[in-house]
Amino acid sequence: MNGTVGTIRLSFEEMWERIMACDARYDGMFFTAVKTTRIYCRPSCRSRKPKQKNVEFYLHMTEVEAAGYRPCKRCQPEVEHSPWNGFILEARSFIVDHYREDLRLKDIADHVKLSAYYLERLFKQETGETPRMYLEKIRVDRAAHLLRCSERPNLEVCYEAGFRTPSNFYKAFKRHHDCSPGEYRSQGAPIVREAIRRKAPERELKAGNGRAAR
Ligand SMILES: [Zn+2]
Repeated sequence: MNGTVGTIRLSFEEMWERIMACDARYDGMFFTAVKTTRIYCRPSCRSRKPKQKNVEFYLHMTEVEAAGYRPCKRCQPEVEHSPWNGFILEARSFIVDHYREDLRLKDIADHVKLSAYYLERLFKQETGETPRMYLEKIRVDRAAHLLRCSERPNLEVCYEAGFRTPSNFYKAFKRHHDCSPGEYRSQGAPIVREAIRRKAPERELKAGNGRAAR
């Protein structure tokens, strides 16, 4: 079972946002464990959401199972849906960890040891989107997180999220959120406002050094 990924540089808050959004694009990268039910889930699970204080996140399936959690029957986090899942997960994790860089398709392909052409085809076939589209989504998620949870000016958010130009940033953001970054910030987001009010600590989850062996 290939349930291991090296490091994912996502904070507790970011992972929390992703599970509230039932975001399947992060499936396999981390697992949501609910202390009260002793069950663990994929980020995309559509079961009723736990309270934030009852949640802990694990990056590896082996760890979450070792901690005594059982897989959710609904989202079946222990089941791989496709034999290509390992490559896709590896490519996605690489993107999540390198979104700030000027990433090219070739960089991602080199990392997973496939040709750029083949990776793009496989990625599209398995996820319905290209690696480039996925990268844009990850950058938009990061930007949205910063807009909600920090006071940093839009321009800084743009570069921090890995966008190369403000016009790209605005276009991409609008495509995903149907509003400008400024509008998004002024509207706020209820879940995160609540998290800030409760002053949830930003815990960085970093498991291990470097990437786990496949
Ligand atoms: Zn579940």
